Formats: sequence, C-alpha cells, structure tokens
Amino acid sequence: MRWEERRYPQLAGIDAQDAVAILPLGAIEAHGPHLPVGSDVWIAEAMAREGARRLAERGVAAYVLPALAYAPSPFGADFPGTLSIRPETLVALLVDLAASLAEQGVATLVLVNSHFDPSQVSAVREAAERIRELGRPRVVFPDLTRRRLAERLTEEFRSGSCHAGRYESSIVLAERPELVDEEARAALPPLPISLVDAIRNGRATFAHAGLAEAYCGDPAAASVEEGHAIVATLGEIVAEAVTSGV
Ligand SMILES: [Zn+2]
Repeated sequence: MRWEERRYPQLAGIDAQDAVAILPLGAIEAHGPHLPVGSDVWIAEAMAREGARRLAERGVAAYVLPALAYAPSPFGADFPGTLSIRPETLVALLVDLAASLAEQGVATLVLVNSHFDPSQVSAVREAAERIRELGRPRVVFPDLTRRRLAERLTEEFRSGSCHAGRYESSIVLAERPELVDEEARAALPPLPISLVDAIRNGRATFAHAGLAEAYCGDPAAASVEEGHAIVATLGEIVAEAVTSGV
C-alpha cells in the first residue's frame, strides 16, 4: 500500500491497474503546547491510509505516497519549530510530481490535505487546477474547507476553531498517543476562536488571531474514540471522492 516500501518490479504494470496514488499533505507547524509540530503530517497520513484501505476493499489499487511534510505556514511562523515554504514552491512540486506519476502510469492522484493555512489551501487548489490542465493524471482534491465536506466532520471543525483543538488533538491521540503531552492538554482552557472568521477579518498570524499558544478550540475535550471516528470519516471522504469522480 505504501509506495516507498515497494520494490520496482512490484511497481511495474501500474498503468494496467487504473491505479490511484494518494499524497498526504501536512505541515511542520506549532500545534499548541500539547501536540508536536508534525501533527498535520500524521493526520494527513491517517486520512490517506484509511482512504487507501477503503479503496482496496472496493477493488481499487491504491498506493499511499510518502507524505509531504513541508508547507506554506505563515500563520504559525512566529512560533518556534514552524517551517515554511513559499506557496509557489509547493505548486511547482505538486505539478512536477503529478507529471512523474503520469509517466509511471498512475491514473489518479489524490491530494489529501490536513493543513488549513489559507496559503496552503490556495496553493493546493492552484496545483490541482494546473494538473487538470495537463490532462493526466486525473486529480482529486477532497477540500475539507468546502462546506459540503466540512459538514461531515465535527462541530468544532465546522466552527473554524480547528487548529490543535479537540478535532486535531483527538486524531493525534488516536494515531500517535505517545507524542501528546497529556498534562499540558488537560490544562488548556477552551478557546472558541474561529480561524475562518479571523482570516476573513484580515488576520494573518495565529498571534493576531488571538491564538497566543498556537491553538484554538477545546483540546482538553479530545478523545481517542473521537479520533478513530474522525479518521474513519476522513478515509470514507477520500474513497468516495475517488469513486464518485468528483
Ligand atoms: Zn493542524
């Protein structure tokens, strides 16, 4: 299932498979005092893995590509540990990678994004557009910031209070529990600030949006169970996006 774990003879004849390659897009960005800076990478990987598993169950050959950990992250740039690249760098990388996948015979590229900095979302949208113009591979981008998909996720996610809060903390608790600082998490007061509203009001960093500790939402309310449930929904969204042809 993981592309990089295959040997080359196992990756021959991909073009005959109508194969799907899923690229997890994360970030290295401050995620509150309780979650590691790599949280978005693991969230995107979990979404990709569950999507691939569900596609395989439906008879679709699906491969998960190595995650892209680097992203435009200007919102979190003031915090230690955040690494950021230019949006155009991401667009160029995605377009180049899509061309290489097409040469390898991959029919469909799925962009799975868990990092919602506006510069990331717009860069992924632009890359998807440019890959569509190239014609191959078919590109599928289930954009979780669109209302139709956001409605299937949790109330906190829909509220826009979705950075290192209950939603993301639950997923990391389910995926990488040993890396969550539980003492710090339990002590964090809820911070119901909507990043969607903050962005609309021209805020361009977490600090200016009122996220003094690089989190919003309610991380203390997170749970492993909720994390598993969210990952299942995310996987279903990926599988449906591929099979429905959206
Ligand atoms: Zn995140």
